Amino acid sequence: KLYNQVQDLKGSIRVYCRVRPFLPGQTSALTTVDHIEESTISIATPSKYGKEGRKSFTFNKVFGPSASQEAVFADTQPLIRSVLDGYNVCIFAYGQTGSGKTFTMMGPNELTEESLGVNYRALSDLFHLSSERKETFSYKISVQMLEIYNEQVRDLLATNGQTSRYPFLKDFIRNSSQDGINVPEATLVPVSTTSDVISLMNLGQKNRAVSATAMNDRSSRSHSCLTVHVQGRDLTSGATLRGTMHLVDLAGSERVDKSEVTGDRLKEAQHINKSLSALGDVIASLSQKNNHIPYRNSKLTQLLQDSLGGQAKTLMFIHISPEVDTLGETLSTLKFAERVA
Ligand code: ADP
Ligand code: MG
Repeated sequence: KLYNQVQDLKGSIRVYCRVRPFLPGQTSALTTVDHIEESTISIATPSKYGKEGRKSFTFNKVFGPSASQEAVFADTQPLIRSVLDGYNVCIFAYGQTGSGKTFTMMGPNELTEESLGVNYRALSDLFHLSSERKETFSYKISVQMLEIYNEQVRDLLATNGQTSRYPFLKDFIRNSSQDGINVPEATLVPVSTTSDVISLMNLGQKNRAVSATAMNDRSSRSHSCLTVHVQGRDLTSGATLRGTMHLVDLAGSERVDKSEVTGDRLKEAQHINKSLSALGDVIASLSQKNNHIPYRNSKLTQLLQDSLGGQAKTLMFIHISPEVDTLGETLSTLKFAERVA
């Protein structure tokens, strides 16, 4: 095929680990990260947490706290490019709240050219590459943006001006549909320039924020999914192809102390728990090449079914906060990743 690197990713589930730097003002804080190499991270476990020692974990790649957005994207690019060859791709950001998931996918609140995240870079790369191929191929690229909250799906690109009351989409999923659009009710927007993308993402973020004020930072308790649909046509043979890419900023993976929360907060925690473990189960069964893949156990895995398994490619970014006081969550994130790797 056109992109040799894609061959290296065949049958692929990859796991990349990214460690967030200390934030301004935290310079003297203690870190749990003992050592980072190309693909291994070693965590120091102080005696306070039981036995003093070190635990090492190996993934496809480990990015240390000084890794730039550009460097992280460089290792993601071949996967993204395969969408133009008709592959389906899922990229996930997993980790506890504050570990850098949104930073990886979108960037920080104040975006600069350097700090643009995977989502922007992915789309701009697809535009660039499709225009390079325009003598031989014609491509149409469009996007949807969804939120899953308490096992319900909302359209983040709805523009009816009353997004805070915008209804959840009902009974939405059509797996293996002809056109690859498995949530036909959600707004689908054709895009062709980076500025189209930036304004859509701003709209999506704004719609997410509307509910955040009402429900106290809901963004950390919902999954958000940017879906990119690509349709291509070979100008000589007339053959068509279709690829879908899902870029998913997952809900925070931190465990909530059930003795301390009740009501809505408990319900949210249970839904998050259920959907993240359903995702872990699906990816683990795929990597063990099981016959039965339990897609039906959550909305998230149902939504992504066509793009998880088979010829599809999966990349899980797991995020680590460096602070000692988050060690328990750090270890549980690393164990989650070890299971799916
Ligand atoms: P999450 O989405 O996992 O809750 P965020 O992406 O919001 O976490 O990150 C928490 C804070 O840390 C934000 O202020 C973000 O800008 C900052 N941050 C995260 N990752 C990095 C990084 N790699 N480099 C610099 N700042 C980062
Ligand atoms: Mg976030």
